[in-house]
Amino acid sequence: MTRFVFITGGVVSSLGKGIASAALAALLQARGHKVRLRKLDPYLNVDPGTMSPYQHGEVFITDDGAETDLDLGHYERFTGVHARKSDNTTTGRIYSDVIARERRGDYLGATVQVIPHITDAIKETIVNGTEDYDFVLVEIGGTVGDIESLPFLEAIRQLRNDLGHDRTMCVHLTLLPYIPSAGELKTKPTQHSVKELQNVGIQPQMLLCRSDRPIPQTERQKIASFCNVRPEAVIAALDVDTIYACPIAYHEQGMDREVLRYFGLPFEESPDLSKWEKIVQTIRHPEKEVRVAIVGKYTALLDSYKSLAEALLHGGIANNARVRMQWIDAETLEKPDGTVALQNADAILVPGGFGERGSEGKINAIRYAREHKIPFLGICFGMQMAVIECARSLAGLPKASSTEFGPTDEPLVGLMTEWARGTELLRRREGDDLGGTMRLGAYKAKLLEGSRVAHIYGTTEIRERHRHRWEVNLHYKDRLEAAGLVFSGMSPDGILPEIVEYADHPWFIGVQYHPELLSKPFDPHPLFAGFIEAAVRHHEHSEKMHHKATS
Ligand code: GLN
Repeated sequence: MTRFVFITGGVVSSLGKGIASAALAALLQARGHKVRLRKLDPYLNVDPGTMSPYQHGEVFITDDGAETDLDLGHYERFTGVHARKSDNTTTGRIYSDVIARERRGDYLGATVQVIPHITDAIKETIVNGTEDYDFVLVEIGGTVGDIESLPFLEAIRQLRNDLGHDRTMCVHLTLLPYIPSAGELKTKPTQHSVKELQNVGIQPQMLLCRSDRPIPQTERQKIASFCNVRPEAVIAALDVDTIYACPIAYHEQGMDREVLRYFGLPFEESPDLSKWEKIVQTIRHPEKEVRVAIVGKYTALLDSYKSLAEALLHGGIANNARVRMQWIDAETLEKPDGTVALQNADAILVPGGFGERGSEGKINAIRYAREHKIPFLGICFGMQMAVIECARSLAGLPKASSTEFGPTDEPLVGLMTEWARGTELLRRREGDDLGGTMRLGAYKAKLLEGSRVAHIYGTTEIRERHRHRWEVNLHYKDRLEAAGLVFSGMSPDGILPEIVEYADHPWFIGVQYHPELLSKPFDPHPLFAGFIEAAVRHHEHSEKMHHKATS
């Protein structure tokens, strides 16, 4: 029997509903249950694919090519369960599906309305394809009280009746602010927020309360009685120093116990959380430390690079090292001497990106990494810029550019107009819709025998997630190879360059895909493990040189 846990949020946004959902799922999983996580987003975009990273943070890509909310990344990292297109929906998608059905005449003369048509469509998305799971956790984006989330809340209210209370549970995440002058944690915002939920017919069975200190018994009682929940179901979500400490912290507060008790499932035995303890221990007390400079365009909002930051952390775990991330706005590297900012970096990374702004700064960073033999990882746009840098500096093509920036005589990077997905041929033209039309999702690549990447992966066949519209132009391959750049990974049909590397550099790799999306704390991505390992080596080497110079 599949049970559904709905997770809503109140009081303020950014309380970490995504992490809370992922952590609860991880706890249920640690107790042997099969879990799946889903997210409903109340905005009108069909998916976040066309949104600026500043609006929305990172767009997370699934194997099946969906552009989804970044919380799905947390879900995958915490549970190892790969998300699918069907695990994230938005108001925009629901409406466009319902309207398409209406146009087809599927509603047979009915007046199409929010209730029941929109709510039915939401219920379908929640329930579809969940038969094989013990628990489905459904996170509702936004904050209770927003106009936008009403249809989703109504759908949940109805589902509790349709499926029964023994198969559904509502968890509400709130904030208990500490007011220093009163010396108290305040419960009123939580009470109000629960009232908002009750107004739309939803009574939560558990409150997860974000707080910077333990909840005193009197406050807990107060919340329980005002909000109509058991005192044991008022769970403190205390601030933690790393998100990976959340499962342990929630377990200590009795969260998983209380969920299982609610559903009438056995809860006495404690789950084995030793793997979580181990990674938290490594994160807190690593033996080494490295500094990685990340040269990007969206550095003012680190959520834009969520998976990347996590993957670097995982690479650190693999090497027992703390990874200090130095986020550098690419445009600052366009000034004379801008690259001094890279002086102390043990490794340099240029992540994915879009558009011309900052690209010259990224190219400068890449040149610096190549010339100074600093470990370098270029991801997607970062790989494309690495190829342009090589063309300009080493292959005698000073005008090398990407058609993403406008017409050019030397299109080292060009618009991808067709490619194969399995046996299907996909085609694109300039001027096509921007939404959902990139090369998206998991594609296979073949690695060159004996290359650095083949060694790092330990195989010559890989499958990685993509999100790009432009590609490195194969036409220039021979000239670039003559200049020292090895094309060490290609699409299986040999048409799309997937990986480039320099053989005469300690560690310089550019990849067209996004390895950060597949990295897990328990299973760090080999490229990130290798990259941080190279950074550690570089760090030790420069310490030695420094020591020699000063002694
Ligand atoms: N803008 C580039 C492209 O579309 C790179 C995209 C990316 O870095 N994800 O090909």
